[in-house]
Amino acid sequence: MRPAAVSRIHGPEMPCMNESLPQTPASPSLAVPLPVGRHPPPGRVIFVGAGPGEPDLLTTRAINRLKTADIVVHDQLVPQAVLHLTESLCLPLSQLPNDNRSTSDPGRQIGRWLADLATPGRVVVRLKGGDPTVFARLSEELEPLTERGIPFEIVPGVTAATAAAASAAVPLTSRENASSLTIVTGHEAAAKEGPIDYGSLATVTGTIVIYMGVEQSPHWSEAFLRAGRPADTPVTLVSRCSWADQRIVSTTLADCAEAIRRAALPAPAIAIVGSHPAGRPVVNRRPLAGSRLLIARPAGQGAELIEAISRRGGETVHLPLIEIGPSPEPAAVEAAIASAWSFDWIVFASVNGVRAFHSYLRNTGRDARALGTARLAAIGPATRAALEACGLSCDLTPDCYRSEGVLEAIGDSVPRGRFLLVRADRGRDLLRQELEARGHEVDQVAAYSSQPVLTLDSEAQRTLRRFPCDWIVLTSSSMATAAVRLFGDQLHRWKIASISPVTSATLITAGFPPTVEADEATTTSLLTAIEAHHESSAGTGKSGKQYRSGKA
Ligand code: SAH
Repeated sequence: MRPAAVSRIHGPEMPCMNESLPQTPASPSLAVPLPVGRHPPPGRVIFVGAGPGEPDLLTTRAINRLKTADIVVHDQLVPQAVLHLTESLCLPLSQLPNDNRSTSDPGRQIGRWLADLATPGRVVVRLKGGDPTVFARLSEELEPLTERGIPFEIVPGVTAATAAAASAAVPLTSRENASSLTIVTGHEAAAKEGPIDYGSLATVTGTIVIYMGVEQSPHWSEAFLRAGRPADTPVTLVSRCSWADQRIVSTTLADCAEAIRRAALPAPAIAIVGSHPAGRPVVNRRPLAGSRLLIARPAGQGAELIEAISRRGGETVHLPLIEIGPSPEPAAVEAAIASAWSFDWIVFASVNGVRAFHSYLRNTGRDARALGTARLAAIGPATRAALEACGLSCDLTPDCYRSEGVLEAIGDSVPRGRFLLVRADRGRDLLRQELEARGHEVDQVAAYSSQPVLTLDSEAQRTLRRFPCDWIVLTSSSMATAAVRLFGDQLHRWKIASISPVTSATLITAGFPPTVEADEATTTSLLTAIEAHHESSAGTGKSGKQYRSGKA
Protein backbone atom coordinates (compact mmCIF):
# COMPACT_ATOMS: atom_id res chain seq x y z
CA MET A 1 0.00 0.00 0.00
CA ARG A 2 1.30 3.45 -0.85
CA PRO A 3 1.74 6.09 1.84
CA ALA A 4 -0.70 9.00 1.86
CA ALA A 5 0.35 11.80 -0.38
CA VAL A 6 -1.23 15.19 -0.44
CA SER A 7 -2.94 15.51 -3.79
CA ARG A 8 -0.56 17.97 -5.28
CA ILE A 9 -0.11 15.97 -8.43
CA HIS A 10 -3.07 15.98 -10.73
CA GLY A 11 -3.59 14.49 -14.13
CA PRO A 12 -2.67 11.15 -15.60
CA GLU A 13 0.52 9.42 -14.57
CA MET A 14 1.85 7.64 -17.63
CA PRO A 15 5.20 6.15 -18.54
CA CYS A 16 7.89 8.74 -19.14
CA MET A 17 7.91 9.83 -22.78
CA ASN A 18 11.01 11.95 -22.76
CA GLU A 19 14.26 10.25 -21.82
CA SER A 20 16.06 13.54 -21.37
CA LEU A 21 13.75 14.79 -18.64
CA PRO A 22 15.46 15.20 -15.29
CA GLN A 23 14.55 12.49 -12.83
CA THR A 24 15.16 11.98 -9.14
CA PRO A 25 13.87 9.27 -6.89
CA ALA A 26 11.40 11.88 -5.54
CA SER A 27 10.32 13.04 -8.95
CA PRO A 28 7.34 11.31 -10.59
CA SER A 29 7.62 10.22 -14.19
CA LEU A 30 6.49 13.08 -16.35
CA ALA A 31 4.31 11.86 -19.09
CA VAL A 32 2.45 14.72 -20.56
CA PRO A 33 1.64 13.68 -24.12
CA LEU A 34 2.92 15.92 -26.86
CA PRO A 35 0.56 17.22 -29.52
CA VAL A 36 0.34 15.02 -32.58
CA GLY A 37 2.06 16.44 -35.68
CA ARG A 38 5.46 16.57 -37.25
CA HIS A 39 6.59 19.93 -35.97
CA PRO A 40 5.20 20.68 -32.56
CA PRO A 41 5.48 24.34 -31.56
CA PRO A 42 8.47 25.19 -29.36
CA GLY A 43 8.00 24.63 -25.65
CA ARG A 44 7.31 27.73 -23.59
CA VAL A 45 7.23 28.84 -19.99
CA ILE A 46 4.58 31.10 -18.49
CA PHE A 47 5.32 32.80 -15.18
CA VAL A 48 1.96 33.19 -13.46
CA GLY A 49 1.21 35.22 -10.33
CA ALA A 50 -0.83 33.11 -7.91
CA GLY A 51 -1.75 36.05 -5.67
CA PRO A 52 -1.59 35.86 -1.88
CA GLY A 53 -3.57 32.63 -1.39
CA GLU A 54 -7.30 32.80 -2.08
CA PRO A 55 -8.10 31.30 -5.49
CA ASP A 56 -10.48 34.11 -6.45
CA LEU A 57 -7.60 36.57 -6.20
CA LEU A 58 -6.03 35.12 -9.36
CA THR A 59 -6.59 37.04 -12.58
CA THR A 60 -8.75 35.54 -15.32
CA ARG A 61 -5.66 35.31 -17.51
CA ALA A 62 -3.80 33.42 -14.77
CA ILE A 63 -6.65 30.90 -14.50
CA ASN A 64 -6.79 30.49 -18.30
CA ARG A 65 -3.03 29.86 -18.49
CA LEU A 66 -3.24 27.32 -15.66
CA LYS A 67 -5.97 25.48 -17.56
CA THR A 68 -3.88 25.21 -20.71
CA ALA A 69 -0.67 24.16 -18.96
CA ASP A 70 0.85 20.72 -19.40
CA ILE A 71 2.97 21.02 -16.27
CA VAL A 72 2.74 23.44 -13.35
CA VAL A 73 5.86 24.05 -11.23
CA HIS A 74 4.79 25.83 -8.07
CA ASP A 75 6.16 27.47 -4.94
CA GLN A 76 5.66 25.48 -1.74
CA LEU A 77 3.40 28.14 -0.27
CA VAL A 78 0.82 28.10 -3.07
CA PRO A 79 -2.30 26.73 -1.33
CA GLN A 80 -4.06 23.63 -2.66
CA ALA A 81 -7.20 25.60 -3.45
CA VAL A 82 -5.19 27.43 -6.13
CA LEU A 83 -3.68 24.18 -7.44
CA HIS A 84 -7.20 22.79 -7.74
CA LEU A 85 -7.81 25.34 -10.51
CA THR A 86 -5.80 23.11 -12.83
CA GLU A 87 -5.98 19.48 -13.89
CA SER A 88 -2.36 19.53 -15.01
CA LEU A 89 0.57 17.73 -13.49
CA CYS A 90 1.64 19.88 -10.50
CA LEU A 91 5.24 19.71 -9.29
CA PRO A 92 6.25 21.48 -6.07
CA LEU A 93 9.75 22.96 -5.94
CA SER A 94 10.66 20.21 -3.46
CA GLN A 95 10.76 17.89 -6.50
CA LEU A 96 13.53 19.86 -8.14
CA PRO A 97 15.85 17.16 -9.52
CA ASN A 98 19.04 16.59 -7.54
CA ASP A 99 21.33 17.29 -10.46
CA ASN A 100 19.78 20.76 -10.74
CA ARG A 101 20.28 21.55 -7.06
CA SER A 102 22.82 24.08 -5.90
CA THR A 103 22.64 26.15 -2.79
CA SER A 104 24.48 29.06 -4.34
CA ASP A 105 21.95 29.99 -7.02
CA PRO A 106 18.53 28.49 -6.44
CA GLY A 107 16.86 30.83 -8.98
CA ARG A 108 19.08 29.63 -11.86
CA GLN A 109 18.61 25.96 -10.94
CA ILE A 110 14.85 26.39 -11.05
CA GLY A 111 15.27 28.15 -14.40
CA ARG A 112 17.32 25.20 -15.72
CA TRP A 113 14.62 22.80 -14.57
CA LEU A 114 11.95 24.89 -16.32
CA ALA A 115 14.06 24.88 -19.49
CA ASP A 116 14.42 21.06 -19.30
CA LEU A 117 10.68 20.66 -18.82
CA ALA A 118 9.76 22.99 -21.70
CA THR A 119 10.38 20.45 -24.45
CA PRO A 120 8.78 21.12 -27.88
CA GLY A 121 5.02 21.35 -27.66
CA ARG A 122 4.88 21.69 -23.88
CA VAL A 123 3.46 24.61 -21.95
CA VAL A 124 5.07 24.87 -18.53
CA VAL A 125 3.48 27.23 -16.01
CA ARG A 126 5.75 28.51 -13.27
CA LEU A 127 3.26 29.46 -10.56
CA LYS A 128 4.63 31.95 -8.07
CA GLY A 129 3.05 33.36 -4.93
CA GLY A 130 1.90 36.98 -5.27
CA ASP A 131 3.35 38.66 -8.34
CA PRO A 132 6.18 37.00 -10.32
CA THR A 133 8.14 40.25 -10.57
CA VAL A 134 8.25 41.05 -6.83
CA PHE A 135 10.92 39.33 -4.69
CA ALA A 136 10.58 36.24 -6.81
CA ARG A 137 14.04 35.64 -8.32
CA LEU A 138 12.48 36.20 -11.71
CA SER A 139 15.63 37.33 -13.51
CA GLU A 140 17.60 34.30 -12.28
CA GLU A 141 14.86 31.91 -13.41
CA LEU A 142 14.66 33.65 -16.78
CA GLU A 143 18.40 33.43 -17.56
CA PRO A 144 18.52 29.73 -18.55
CA LEU A 145 15.39 30.22 -20.67
CA THR A 146 16.81 33.14 -22.63
CA GLU A 147 20.15 31.31 -23.00
CA ARG A 148 18.33 28.39 -24.59
CA GLY A 149 15.97 30.54 -26.65
CA ILE A 150 12.83 29.31 -24.90
CA PRO A 151 9.97 31.80 -25.20
CA PHE A 152 8.27 32.98 -22.04
CA GLU A 153 5.36 35.10 -20.87
CA ILE A 154 4.62 36.81 -17.54
CA VAL A 155 1.13 37.02 -16.07
CA PRO A 156 0.91 39.48 -13.16
CA GLY A 157 -0.60 38.62 -9.80
CA VAL A 158 -1.83 40.44 -6.72
CA THR A 159 1.29 41.09 -4.68
CA ALA A 160 1.32 40.73 -0.87
CA ALA A 161 1.60 44.51 -0.35
CA THR A 162 -1.64 45.38 -2.12
CA ALA A 163 -3.47 42.29 -0.81
CA ALA A 164 -2.47 43.16 2.77
CA ALA A 165 -3.35 46.82 2.30
CA ALA A 166 -6.80 45.83 1.04
CA SER A 167 -7.42 43.36 3.89
CA ALA A 168 -6.41 45.90 6.51
CA ALA A 169 -8.02 48.88 4.67
CA VAL A 170 -4.73 50.77 4.67
CA PRO A 171 -4.27 53.13 1.71
CA LEU A 172 -0.71 52.69 0.46
CA THR A 173 -0.59 56.25 -0.89
CA SER A 174 -2.54 59.36 -0.01
CA ARG A 175 -2.57 62.94 -1.29
CA GLU A 176 -1.96 64.31 2.20
CA ASN A 177 0.93 62.33 3.57
CA ALA A 178 2.10 59.47 1.39
CA SER A 179 3.03 60.41 -2.15
CA SER A 180 5.42 57.49 -2.61
CA LEU A 181 5.43 53.77 -1.97
CA THR A 182 8.60 51.81 -1.31
CA ILE A 183 8.72 48.06 -1.10
CA VAL A 184 11.76 46.58 0.54
CA THR A 185 12.95 43.23 1.83
CA GLY A 186 13.53 42.97 5.56
CA HIS A 187 15.78 39.99 4.94
CA GLU A 188 19.27 41.32 4.38
CA ALA A 189 20.38 38.15 2.62
CA ALA A 190 17.75 38.75 -0.06
CA ALA A 191 19.19 42.19 -0.85
CA LYS A 192 22.02 41.35 -3.20
CA GLU A 193 23.63 44.82 -3.22
CA GLY A 194 24.55 44.63 0.46
CA PRO A 195 23.00 45.93 3.65
CA ILE A 196 19.80 47.92 3.22
CA ASP A 197 20.08 51.59 4.12
CA TYR A 198 16.95 51.86 6.25
CA GLY A 199 18.11 55.29 7.43
CA SER A 200 17.82 56.91 4.02
CA LEU A 201 14.60 54.98 3.31
CA ALA A 202 13.14 56.48 6.46
CA THR A 203 13.76 60.02 5.28
CA VAL A 204 11.49 59.56 2.25
CA THR A 205 8.00 60.70 3.21
CA GLY A 206 5.84 57.89 2.05
CA THR A 207 4.68 54.40 2.86
CA ILE A 208 7.21 51.59 3.22
CA VAL A 209 6.12 47.98 2.86
CA ILE A 210 8.49 45.37 4.24
CA TYR A 211 8.46 41.86 2.79
CA MET A 212 10.19 38.97 4.60
CA GLY A 213 10.77 41.31 7.53
CA VAL A 214 9.04 39.89 10.56
CA GLU A 215 12.10 38.29 12.13
CA GLN A 216 14.19 41.37 11.49
CA SER A 217 11.65 43.85 12.90
CA PRO A 218 13.83 44.99 15.86
CA HIS A 219 16.53 45.89 13.34
CA TRP A 220 14.51 47.92 10.82
CA SER A 221 12.18 49.57 13.32
CA GLU A 222 15.17 50.90 15.30
CA ALA A 223 16.86 52.09 12.13
CA PHE A 224 13.72 53.98 11.08
CA LEU A 225 13.41 55.56 14.54
CA ARG A 226 17.09 56.58 14.57
CA ALA A 227 16.63 58.20 11.15
CA GLY A 228 13.88 60.38 12.56
CA ARG A 229 10.60 58.64 11.76
CA PRO A 230 8.24 59.45 14.67
CA ALA A 231 7.73 56.74 17.33
CA ASP A 232 3.96 56.84 16.74
CA THR A 233 4.27 56.15 12.99
CA PRO A 234 1.50 53.61 12.30
CA VAL A 235 2.57 50.05 11.44
CA THR A 236 0.12 47.43 10.19
CA LEU A 237 1.18 43.80 10.23
CA VAL A 238 -0.69 41.28 8.13
CA SER A 239 0.11 37.62 8.60
CA ARG A 240 -1.11 34.98 6.14
CA CYS A 241 -3.09 37.51 4.18
CA SER A 242 -6.23 35.99 2.58
CA TRP A 243 -5.57 32.57 4.18
CA ALA A 244 -8.06 31.01 6.57
CA ASP A 245 -5.87 32.04 9.51
CA GLN A 246 -5.17 35.64 8.41
CA ARG A 247 -4.26 37.99 11.27
CA ILE A 248 -3.95 41.77 11.30
CA VAL A 249 -2.15 43.71 14.05
CA SER A 250 -2.11 47.52 14.20
CA THR A 251 0.75 49.01 16.16
CA THR A 252 3.37 51.77 16.01
CA LEU A 253 7.00 51.93 14.98
CA ALA A 254 8.12 52.11 18.62
CA ASP A 255 6.07 49.07 19.62
CA CYS A 256 6.09 46.90 16.51
CA ALA A 257 9.03 44.59 17.38
CA GLU A 258 7.46 43.78 20.74
CA ALA A 259 3.98 43.45 19.18
CA ILE A 260 5.34 40.96 16.63
CA ARG A 261 7.05 38.99 19.37
CA ARG A 262 3.90 38.92 21.54
CA ALA A 263 1.55 38.01 18.71
CA ALA A 264 3.89 35.26 17.41
CA LEU A 265 2.67 36.01 13.91
CA PRO A 266 3.22 33.05 11.60
CA ALA A 267 4.90 33.46 8.18
CA PRO A 268 4.28 34.69 5.61
CA ALA A 269 3.74 38.13 7.04
CA ILE A 270 4.22 41.67 5.82
CA ALA A 271 4.57 45.09 7.50
CA ILE A 272 3.09 48.37 6.22
CA VAL A 273 4.88 51.33 7.79
CA GLY A 274 3.59 54.88 7.70
CA SER A 275 -0.01 54.75 6.65
CA HIS A 276 -3.13 54.77 8.81
CA PRO A 277 -5.86 52.19 8.56
CA ALA A 278 -8.87 53.97 7.05
CA GLY A 279 -11.29 52.39 9.50
CA ARG A 280 -12.89 48.99 9.69
CA PRO A 281 -13.65 47.56 6.26
CA VAL A 282 -17.06 46.02 5.67
CA VAL A 283 -16.21 42.37 5.55
CA ASN A 284 -18.60 40.17 3.68
CA ARG A 285 -17.87 37.11 5.77
CA ARG A 286 -18.91 33.88 4.17
CA PRO A 287 -20.06 31.11 6.52
CA LEU A 288 -16.82 29.08 6.53
CA ALA A 289 -14.42 32.05 6.34
CA GLY A 290 -11.48 31.52 8.65
CA SER A 291 -11.69 27.71 8.63
CA ARG A 292 -9.37 25.20 7.04
CA LEU A 293 -10.82 21.73 6.53
CA LEU A 294 -8.92 18.51 5.95
CA ILE A 295 -10.64 16.53 3.20
CA ALA A 296 -9.86 12.81 3.31
CA ARG A 297 -11.62 11.63 0.13
CA PRO A 298 -9.80 9.38 -2.35
CA ALA A 299 -7.59 11.07 -4.94
CA GLY A 300 -9.59 12.59 -7.78
CA GLN A 301 -12.82 12.56 -5.75
CA GLY A 302 -12.60 15.67 -3.61
CA ALA A 303 -13.21 18.36 -6.23
CA GLU A 304 -16.93 18.98 -5.66
CA LEU A 305 -16.62 19.11 -1.88
CA ILE A 306 -13.57 21.36 -2.10
CA GLU A 307 -15.40 23.66 -4.51
CA ALA A 308 -18.45 23.80 -2.20
CA ILE A 309 -16.23 24.70 0.78
CA SER A 310 -14.42 27.34 -1.21
CA ARG A 311 -17.78 28.91 -2.25
CA ARG A 312 -18.58 29.17 1.46
CA GLY A 313 -15.27 30.95 2.12
CA GLY A 314 -13.42 28.00 3.70
CA GLU A 315 -10.00 26.62 2.81
CA THR A 316 -9.12 22.96 2.31
CA VAL A 317 -6.23 20.56 2.46
CA HIS A 318 -6.86 17.38 0.49
CA LEU A 319 -5.17 14.36 2.00
CA PRO A 320 -6.66 11.11 0.67
CA LEU A 321 -7.03 8.51 3.43
CA ILE A 322 -8.62 5.88 1.18
CA GLU A 323 -7.20 4.45 -2.01
CA ILE A 324 -9.61 3.16 -4.63
CA GLY A 325 -8.33 0.21 -6.64
CA PRO A 326 -9.56 -2.46 -9.03
CA SER A 327 -12.05 -5.14 -8.07
CA PRO A 328 -10.58 -8.14 -6.24
CA GLU A 329 -13.04 -10.38 -8.14
CA PRO A 330 -13.27 -9.15 -11.76
CA ALA A 331 -14.66 -12.47 -13.03
CA ALA A 332 -17.55 -12.24 -10.56
CA VAL A 333 -18.33 -8.67 -11.65
CA GLU A 334 -18.29 -9.71 -15.32
CA ALA A 335 -20.53 -12.68 -14.57
CA ALA A 336 -22.97 -10.42 -12.70
CA ILE A 337 -23.02 -8.02 -15.63
CA ALA A 338 -23.62 -10.86 -18.11
CA SER A 339 -26.73 -11.84 -16.16
CA ALA A 340 -27.72 -8.31 -15.10
CA TRP A 341 -31.02 -8.56 -17.01
CA SER A 342 -32.11 -11.39 -14.69
CA PHE A 343 -32.22 -9.27 -11.51
CA ASP A 344 -35.27 -7.44 -10.16
CA TRP A 345 -33.12 -4.78 -8.54
CA ILE A 346 -29.51 -3.67 -8.91
CA VAL A 347 -28.49 -1.63 -5.88
CA PHE A 348 -25.51 0.74 -5.98
CA ALA A 349 -23.94 1.60 -2.63
CA SER A 350 -21.56 4.34 -3.79
CA VAL A 351 -20.43 6.58 -6.63
CA ASN A 352 -17.32 4.43 -7.02
CA GLY A 353 -19.53 1.35 -7.40
CA VAL A 354 -21.47 3.02 -10.23
CA ARG A 355 -18.31 4.12 -12.03
CA ALA A 356 -16.62 0.71 -11.72
CA PHE A 357 -19.79 -1.17 -12.79
CA HIS A 358 -20.24 1.12 -15.77
CA SER A 359 -16.67 0.64 -16.96
CA TYR A 360 -17.08 -3.15 -16.73
CA LEU A 361 -20.31 -2.81 -18.72
CA ARG A 362 -18.55 -0.80 -21.44
CA ASN A 363 -15.36 -2.87 -21.41
CA THR A 364 -17.33 -6.05 -22.00
CA GLY A 365 -18.93 -4.42 -25.07
CA ARG A 366 -22.34 -3.88 -23.47
CA ASP A 367 -24.59 -0.93 -22.79
CA ALA A 368 -27.80 -0.18 -20.87
CA ARG A 369 -29.68 -2.88 -22.81
CA ALA A 370 -27.72 -5.52 -20.87
CA LEU A 371 -29.67 -4.49 -17.77
CA GLY A 372 -33.01 -5.51 -19.31
CA THR A 373 -35.91 -4.69 -16.98
CA ALA A 374 -33.82 -4.64 -13.79
CA ARG A 375 -34.67 -1.61 -11.68
CA LEU A 376 -31.80 0.50 -10.37
CA ALA A 377 -31.49 1.85 -6.83
CA ALA A 378 -28.90 4.32 -5.52
CA ILE A 379 -28.11 4.72 -1.84
CA GLY A 380 -28.10 8.54 -2.02
CA PRO A 381 -28.30 11.54 -4.33
CA ALA A 382 -24.59 11.54 -5.29
CA THR A 383 -24.81 7.87 -6.34
CA ARG A 384 -28.00 8.68 -8.24
CA ALA A 385 -26.24 11.54 -10.04
CA ALA A 386 -23.37 9.17 -10.94
CA LEU A 387 -25.87 6.70 -12.49
CA GLU A 388 -27.49 9.48 -14.46
CA ALA A 389 -24.08 10.71 -15.63
CA CYS A 390 -23.59 7.23 -17.12
CA GLY A 391 -26.92 7.53 -18.96
CA LEU A 392 -28.73 5.14 -16.59
CA SER A 393 -32.01 6.28 -14.98
CA CYS A 394 -32.31 5.66 -11.30
CA ASP A 395 -35.63 4.15 -10.17
CA LEU A 396 -35.20 4.75 -6.49
CA THR A 397 -33.26 6.70 -3.91
CA PRO A 398 -34.44 6.04 -0.33
CA ASP A 399 -35.48 8.84 2.03
CA CYS A 400 -32.75 7.80 4.44
CA TYR A 401 -29.40 7.49 2.63
CA ARG A 402 -28.09 4.24 4.15
CA SER A 403 -28.61 0.48 3.87
CA GLU A 404 -31.57 0.59 6.26
CA GLY A 405 -33.28 3.13 3.97
CA VAL A 406 -32.77 0.95 0.88
CA LEU A 407 -34.13 -2.06 2.73
CA GLU A 408 -37.22 -0.21 3.83
CA ALA A 409 -37.85 1.19 0.34
CA ILE A 410 -37.42 -1.98 -1.74
CA GLY A 411 -37.27 -4.91 0.70
CA ASP A 412 -40.92 -5.79 0.07
CA SER A 413 -41.25 -4.53 -3.51
CA VAL A 414 -41.08 -8.05 -4.96
CA PRO A 415 -41.88 -11.42 -3.42
CA ARG A 416 -38.74 -13.59 -3.44
CA GLY A 417 -36.88 -11.20 -5.73
CA ARG A 418 -33.39 -11.35 -7.22
CA PHE A 419 -31.08 -8.56 -6.03
CA LEU A 420 -27.62 -7.58 -7.23
CA LEU A 421 -25.66 -5.45 -4.75
CA VAL A 422 -22.76 -3.48 -6.27
CA ARG A 423 -20.31 -2.25 -3.63
CA ALA A 424 -16.71 -2.07 -2.35
CA ASP A 425 -14.72 -5.04 -1.10
CA ARG A 426 -15.42 -3.88 2.45
CA GLY A 427 -18.27 -2.27 4.30
CA ARG A 428 -21.44 -3.25 6.12
CA ASP A 429 -23.10 -6.54 5.17
CA LEU A 430 -26.47 -5.53 6.56
CA LEU A 431 -28.39 -5.18 3.30
CA ARG A 432 -27.46 -8.65 2.02
CA GLN A 433 -28.25 -10.30 5.35
CA GLU A 434 -31.62 -8.58 5.74
CA LEU A 435 -32.69 -9.23 2.15
CA GLU A 436 -31.76 -12.91 2.48
CA ALA A 437 -33.62 -13.08 5.80
CA ARG A 438 -36.73 -11.89 3.90
CA GLY A 439 -36.36 -14.78 1.45
CA HIS A 440 -34.75 -12.90 -1.47
CA GLU A 441 -31.89 -14.19 -3.56
CA VAL A 442 -28.88 -11.87 -3.32
CA ASP A 443 -25.74 -11.61 -5.43
CA GLN A 444 -23.15 -9.23 -4.03
CA VAL A 445 -20.12 -8.12 -6.03
CA ALA A 446 -17.13 -6.00 -5.07
CA ALA A 447 -16.82 -3.75 -8.13
CA TYR A 448 -13.76 -2.00 -6.67
CA SER A 449 -11.42 -2.20 -3.71
CA SER A 450 -11.11 0.44 -1.04
CA GLN A 451 -7.89 0.39 0.99
CA PRO A 452 -7.00 2.61 3.94
CA VAL A 453 -3.82 4.65 3.62
CA LEU A 454 -1.46 3.53 6.38
CA THR A 455 1.30 6.14 6.51
CA LEU A 456 1.75 9.82 5.68
CA ASP A 457 4.59 10.67 3.32
CA SER A 458 6.88 13.60 4.15
CA GLU A 459 5.16 15.97 1.67
CA ALA A 460 1.81 15.30 3.39
CA GLN A 461 3.31 15.89 6.83
CA ARG A 462 4.91 19.12 5.65
CA THR A 463 1.60 20.33 4.23
CA LEU A 464 -0.23 19.60 7.48
CA ARG A 465 2.39 21.56 9.42
CA ARG A 466 2.34 24.45 6.99
CA PHE A 467 -1.44 24.63 6.62
CA PRO A 468 -2.81 23.68 10.05
CA CYS A 469 -6.44 22.54 9.81
CA ASP A 470 -9.23 23.07 12.31
CA TRP A 471 -11.68 20.47 10.91
CA ILE A 472 -11.36 16.96 9.51
CA VAL A 473 -14.24 15.94 7.27
CA LEU A 474 -15.03 12.20 7.28
CA THR A 475 -17.47 10.99 4.66
CA SER A 476 -17.48 7.24 5.35
CA SER A 477 -16.95 4.79 8.12
CA SER A 478 -13.83 3.31 6.48
CA MET A 479 -12.39 6.83 6.19
CA ALA A 480 -13.04 7.32 9.92
CA THR A 481 -11.21 4.06 10.69
CA ALA A 482 -8.27 5.15 8.53
CA ALA A 483 -8.17 8.57 10.25
CA VAL A 484 -8.16 6.98 13.71
CA ARG A 485 -5.34 4.63 12.72
CA LEU A 486 -3.27 7.31 11.04
CA PHE A 487 -3.73 10.27 13.39
CA GLY A 488 -4.67 8.69 16.75
CA ASP A 489 -4.79 11.29 19.54
CA GLN A 490 -3.98 14.03 17.07
CA LEU A 491 -7.69 13.83 16.12
CA HIS A 492 -8.48 15.53 19.45
CA ARG A 493 -6.88 18.69 18.06
CA TRP A 494 -9.39 18.93 15.22
CA LYS A 495 -13.13 19.36 15.11
CA ILE A 496 -14.56 16.26 13.44
CA ALA A 497 -17.41 16.34 10.93
CA SER A 498 -19.14 12.99 10.38
CA ILE A 499 -21.43 12.25 7.45
CA SER A 500 -23.70 9.68 9.08
CA PRO A 501 -24.62 7.76 12.24
CA VAL A 502 -22.56 4.78 10.96
CA THR A 503 -19.43 6.94 10.59
CA SER A 504 -20.14 8.54 13.99
CA ALA A 505 -20.50 5.11 15.63
CA THR A 506 -17.04 4.12 14.31
CA LEU A 507 -15.59 7.33 15.74
CA ILE A 508 -17.35 7.02 19.10
CA THR A 509 -16.19 3.41 19.51
CA ALA A 510 -12.61 4.56 18.91
CA GLY A 511 -12.95 7.33 21.50
CA PHE A 512 -13.27 10.28 19.11
CA PRO A 513 -16.89 11.45 19.12
CA PRO A 514 -17.58 13.78 16.20
CA THR A 515 -18.15 17.47 16.76
CA VAL A 516 -21.04 17.50 14.29
CA GLU A 517 -22.98 14.94 12.29
CA ALA A 518 -24.91 15.60 9.07
CA ASP A 519 -28.72 15.43 9.38
CA GLU A 520 -28.79 13.38 6.18
CA ALA A 521 -25.84 11.59 4.61
CA THR A 522 -24.91 14.19 1.97
CA THR A 523 -21.96 16.54 1.82
CA THR A 524 -24.34 19.52 1.54
CA SER A 525 -25.98 18.52 4.80
CA LEU A 526 -22.54 17.98 6.37
CA LEU A 527 -21.41 21.49 5.39
CA THR A 528 -24.65 22.88 6.82
CA ALA A 529 -23.84 21.17 10.14
CA ILE A 530 -20.33 22.66 10.14
CA GLU A 531 -21.75 26.11 9.38
CA ALA A 532 -24.30 25.75 12.18
CA HIS A 533 -21.49 24.89 14.55
CA HIS A 534 -19.63 28.03 13.49
CA GLU A 535 -22.68 30.17 13.99
CA SER A 536 -23.36 28.72 17.42
CA SER A 537 -19.70 29.15 18.45
CA ALA A 538 -19.98 32.76 17.27
CA GLY A 539 -22.85 33.16 19.73
CA THR A 540 -25.81 33.50 17.38
CA GLY A 541 -27.63 30.83 19.31
CA LYS A 542 -28.24 28.53 16.31
CA SER A 543 -26.98 25.03 16.85
CA GLY A 544 -26.60 21.94 14.68
CA LYS A 545 -26.71 18.34 15.82
CA GLN A 546 -23.55 18.34 17.91
CA TYR A 547 -21.67 15.77 19.91
CA ARG A 548 -19.02 17.79 21.68
CA SER A 549 -18.09 21.40 21.77
CA GLY A 550 -15.30 22.22 19.35
CA LYS A 551 -12.50 24.67 19.74
CA ALA A 552 -13.65 28.24 19.27
N1 SAH B 1 6.18 37.38 -5.03
C1 SAH B 1 5.57 37.56 -3.73
C2 SAH B 1 6.59 37.85 -2.67
C3 SAH B 1 7.48 36.70 -2.35
S1 SAH B 1 8.62 37.08 -1.06
C4 SAH B 1 4.51 38.65 -3.81
O1 SAH B 1 4.45 39.36 -4.83
O2 SAH B 1 3.75 38.80 -2.89
C5 SAH B 1 7.81 36.32 0.31
C6 SAH B 1 7.26 37.39 1.24
O3 SAH B 1 6.07 37.94 0.70
C7 SAH B 1 6.85 36.84 2.58
O4 SAH B 1 7.95 36.74 3.48
C8 SAH B 1 5.88 37.90 3.05
O5 SAH B 1 6.54 39.04 3.52
C9 SAH B 1 5.18 38.26 1.74
N2 SAH B 1 3.94 37.46 1.56
C10 SAH B 1 3.69 36.59 0.57
N3 SAH B 1 2.44 36.08 0.69
C11 SAH B 1 1.91 36.66 1.78
C12 SAH B 1 0.65 36.53 2.44
N4 SAH B 1 -0.31 35.72 1.98
N5 SAH B 1 0.44 37.26 3.56
C13 SAH B 1 1.40 38.10 4.04
N6 SAH B 1 2.61 38.24 3.46
C14 SAH B 1 2.86 37.54 2.34
